[in-house]
Amino acid sequence: MKTIAVIGAGIVGSFLAYDLTQYEEVEVILFEKHGDVAQETSKANSAIVHAGYDPVDGTLKAKLNKRGAKMYQNICKQLGCGYQACGGYVLASNEEEVEILQELYARGKKRGITVEIKEREEVVKNEKNLSKHIRKALWVPDTAIITPWEVCEALVEEALWNGLQLHLHEEVLDIKACEKGYVIRSDKGQYSVDMLVNAAGLGAQKIMEMVEAESLFTITPKRGQYYVLAKRSQPYVSHVLYPAPSKAGKGVLAVPTIHGNILLGPTSEVLKKVDNATTTSGLQEVQEKVEKIIQHVPYQEVIHSYSGCRPTGNNNDFYIEESRRCKGIFHLGCIDSPGLASAPAISEYVIVELMKLPLTFHKKKHIVHRQKPLIMRNLSETKQQALIQKHPGYGHIVCYCEQISEQEVVDCIHRKCGAHSIAGVKMRVRPGMGKCQGGYCEVEIAKLLARELQIPLHEVQYDEDSYYEVAKEGRR
Ligand SMILES: Cc1cc2nc3c(=O)[nH]c(=O)nc-3n(C[C@H](O)[C@H](O)[C@H](O)COP(=O)(O)OP(=O)(O)OC[C@H]3O[C@@H](n4cnc5c(N)ncnc54)[C@H](O)[C@@H]3O)c2cc1C
Repeated sequence: MKTIAVIGAGIVGSFLAYDLTQYEEVEVILFEKHGDVAQETSKANSAIVHAGYDPVDGTLKAKLNKRGAKMYQNICKQLGCGYQACGGYVLASNEEEVEILQELYARGKKRGITVEIKEREEVVKNEKNLSKHIRKALWVPDTAIITPWEVCEALVEEALWNGLQLHLHEEVLDIKACEKGYVIRSDKGQYSVDMLVNAAGLGAQKIMEMVEAESLFTITPKRGQYYVLAKRSQPYVSHVLYPAPSKAGKGVLAVPTIHGNILLGPTSEVLKKVDNATTTSGLQEVQEKVEKIIQHVPYQEVIHSYSGCRPTGNNNDFYIEESRRCKGIFHLGCIDSPGLASAPAISEYVIVELMKLPLTFHKKKHIVHRQKPLIMRNLSETKQQALIQKHPGYGHIVCYCEQISEQEVVDCIHRKCGAHSIAGVKMRVRPGMGKCQGGYCEVEIAKLLARELQIPLHEVQYDEDSYYEVAKEGRR
């Protein structure tokens, strides 16, 4: 039996935990410093499974993005997570940008990715609010959207059913070599492990520096800010709309979400340290830049803004290697975009090509699958009525904006990777994601958490840093 530790429960660490727990001879420990999965970069991004035409030839990004994009649909189906192949247009408004489209077209073709150049007239039939400056577009039908935190939570839940030891609220502080492998010291204890995967996202450089004599990569946080538009602004944008990319990156996009909202963003701001605030100037930049691709933006429908930081590396590629100094330690550094799209392939690459586990270890004969969460609003009326007869809690709506029943909230609290705060419930079943942003339903969710966790209301957490009642006062 080998014990493998994974540091970080973002999308990459979650895929690793899921894949590694499928092996008979492996014990997996997943360390996450936050109180829930997907609390850093994996929860604050554009949620796009890019098809893989964009990364430069010969990079790990090119190889793993294309492979990851191919893997997602099946994985999401198997886990019961949303996946929508909505397709994407890369838009050009001048001759220089049309040339960029031609390059991307050639790159896509060479990689076997379906791409087509479209004239404005064809695109505008599908996207009515296209900026009048757009002349041509690269059509990429395999561009897809997912809900990243839903995938993380599902992967970790499934891994828990298959033996994962999940250590939330536990920060890895130090790693030392010992006779048989490594000793990990966290803020809660010490663990002996045979192998270790550094999937710590923005914290990967710090983990690398715990074990290496010299620096292997440096990470700079690059912030991206977004607006979120309410569902009722649809049908405003139906596909992922990208401007033609530049040296600065993919630019400011318009992206539909699985749940019917629209994201406008992100910015690309180099920071000295991680800061997930949104700023007036950042959001103003989103407004200015998005008008390059779309017009008549319904800003009256903005319900929220957020930001996330990319762990940008010094080499414009992922750094994924086994440590030369400490065999059995694998660094996954600089996993910025397209890290989400590449995540299943990153995990596969580490396990198959670097660890070479399939050569000596066996896949479990019986993998336990989680019961997929039941989403009332997706059922037919007959099915809803039958369910309400059996469990009246499904008939009690607690969030009107998103049509969520009491029983769906109760279920998400008691699942293996269950919610234990208002933010955790919001992430899993969406109360508070609608137009009222929790104004009406938050108190209901707080009461349900208190009842189900058997704690007084004043002990209900809003998120891992604050209590519900204190956070509520602060927002008044
Ligand atoms: C604005 C923006 C837009 C993006 N859009 C896209 C997109 O549309 N498509 C795409 O493919 N990619 C996109 N990306 C990139 C993508 O989001 C990231 O590549 C991906 O989420 C990285 O996942 P991760 O698991 O490596 O890191 P993270 O999600 O950051 O997870 C790392 C985890 O490690 C934990 N951790 C760190 N240190 C420790 C420690 N010492 N002990 C315990 N735990 C620790 C952290 O708490 C964190 O939860 C975007 C990124 C940003 C910021």
